[in-house]
Amino acid sequence: SESGSPYYRVVLIGEHGVGKSTLANIFAGVHDSMDSDCDVLGEDTYERTLMVDGESTTIILLDMWENKSENEWIQDHCMQIGDAYLIVYSITDRVSFEKASELRIQLRKARQTEDIPIILVGNKSDLVRCREVSVAEGRACAVVFDCKFIETSAAVQHNVKELFEGIVRQVRLRRDSK
Ligand code: GDP
Ligand code: MG
Repeated sequence: SESGSPYYRVVLIGEHGVGKSTLANIFAGVHDSMDSDCDVLGEDTYERTLMVDGESTTIILLDMWENKSENEWIQDHCMQIGDAYLIVYSITDRVSFEKASELRIQLRKARQTEDIPIILVGNKSDLVRCREVSVAEGRACAVVFDCKFIETSAAVQHNVKELFEGIVRQVRLRRDSK
């Protein structure tokens, strides 16, 4: 990362198959749509410095939620180490939406006293004919859980850049209010 710029750990959580790794790959620039280099730090850890609103911030994106061998330990660990979270569900899968609410509650329990930036992400917005969760439901859920909301399509790369810029803005807001 660029020396001197602050960095934040952003953790992807959510049901299997909702698109976490596809989002991480876009962040990593496998299909390059952003304008800086990415360092792959490990199998499921990506670092990238983003210029947002004229200021650079380094994000370390962690996509280890589904690590098979040590699942329980990894998930507890994930709940502790994030400076910010992307809770991902698929708009085509209501169960994944319900799981997102559970994860929000779990996160609140794990980090009770902290005001952690979170974005609720409704992915697969390209699959309009398979939609099971409306935009209004997603938005209402985010209001209840006091977090931001965005619908994305990792497949057609819609709103993905906006998602990562959004989480950068959220961590800055928390930082600046301290
Ligand atoms: P993960 O288990 O949460 O990491 O999900 P993956 O990133 O592995 O994605 C699961 C499947 O959904 C793969 O076949 C992806 O190609 C597909 N997928 C991911 N994002 C999207 C999307 O935005 N739209 C569509 N149509 N498919 C997607
Ligand atoms: Mg994955």
